[in-house]
Amino acid sequence: MHSFTYHGDDLYCEDVPLHVIASEIGTPFYLYSRKTLEDHFRVFDGAFERIPHLTCYSVKANSNLGVLKVFADLGAGVDVVSGGEIFRAVTAGISPQKIVYSGVGKSRQELEYALNTDILMFNVESSQELELLGAVAQSAGRKARIALRINPDIDPKTHPYISTGLKKNKFGIKIEEALQAYTRAVTTTHFEIAGVACHIGSQITEVSPFVDTLRRVKQFVQKLSTQGIRIEYLDLGGGLGITYEDEQPPHPSEYADAIIREMDGLPCTLILEPGRVIVGNAGILVTKVLYTKQTDEKKFVVVDAAMNDLVRPSLYEAYHDIQPVAKRQGPQVTADIVGPICETGDFIARQREVPEFVSGDCIAVMSAGAYGFSMSSNYNSRPRVPEVLVDNTRYFVVRRRESYEDLVRLETVPEEL
Ligand SMILES: *Cc1c(COP(=O)(O)O)cnc(C)c1O
Repeated sequence: MHSFTYHGDDLYCEDVPLHVIASEIGTPFYLYSRKTLEDHFRVFDGAFERIPHLTCYSVKANSNLGVLKVFADLGAGVDVVSGGEIFRAVTAGISPQKIVYSGVGKSRQELEYALNTDILMFNVESSQELELLGAVAQSAGRKARIALRINPDIDPKTHPYISTGLKKNKFGIKIEEALQAYTRAVTTTHFEIAGVACHIGSQITEVSPFVDTLRRVKQFVQKLSTQGIRIEYLDLGGGLGITYEDEQPPHPSEYADAIIREMDGLPCTLILEPGRVIVGNAGILVTKVLYTKQTDEKKFVVVDAAMNDLVRPSLYEAYHDIQPVAKRQGPQVTADIVGPICETGDFIARQREVPEFVSGDCIAVMSAGAYGFSMSSNYNSRPRVPEVLVDNTRYFVVRRRESYEDLVRLETVPEEL
């Protein structure tokens, strides 16, 4: 279910032709559909409506303020992993009482900021972090609501770089150590025990790893209960996958049904932290063909977007579908779509059957709404591209294109140099 469709030969986002945006603001740019963002959030959140739950959209997938505002208006909570993301969420109108904060390396300054913002819950990832949070809470004269993120040692069967719930990963606390940490924390006045958290990875395309994880967490919650420690929130994390190529991830309703079944009346409010499944297919990257070149080996289509704009292909060999913004008749060719950056790893797509693109053609890089702009950089001193949000027949530039001035704005050359 997404809103990028052809009318005749022209690709549209909702009711706006892409070529209109491209000619008005130039390329490359990210483009998001408000309707798709809303639909995806509602479908996911609605799938859990039978049980007490809070859907906390994972900000790092796409942290644009305009996108966050769409979710704020739907009453969403958020999962954040830095002080900067807390600032973004609050700025966009997300209620602090719906913010959960994960991450293995929260600094003292970030902990203080989160505490003063009065967020719902800290998902603590180590005993040392718990100790520091305790000290920070004590000196602020506040109570920190905590969950410990446990590492359930479950294989999510996804790319190793985005597996997070295995023993060998840096995330979470092992169950035995967590039990001790809870029993210590419960006697500490500046903590309020709120929950248990976990997150096993990303782009997961089966239900079973989630169910196995929930089973372990549930057992743990029951064990805590026998020790008199009551858990209000069970945070199952995010990670549900999407279709980039031919993956067949479970529909959110199938995922929810399996989870609700396994919850089996456990008296906890369930927290979900979906990122990719909400925004991934709600956004694309639009780029323009600069040159084409034929070597003895291959045909290359050189476009104006690069790995600094969309790093997923280079980083994970991720697949993104390539579509022409204006369909053309004629034969298909096999080509690599590459960017201008001085790295061989700078590609958007490799060995694809695509139309015979020529200089000036616009290309849509599909499924780029998650971990697209939010992972972008200025490598090669390339200004970051604008982000555009479509709403029916209108479009809004929700982040303008960076200028050369923006690139050097924070730098100074000392007089003495
Ligand atoms: C990244 C992350 C998520 C979101 O993962 P998706 O695969 O995008 O759903 C949720 N929770 C935590 C703790 C994360 O680090």
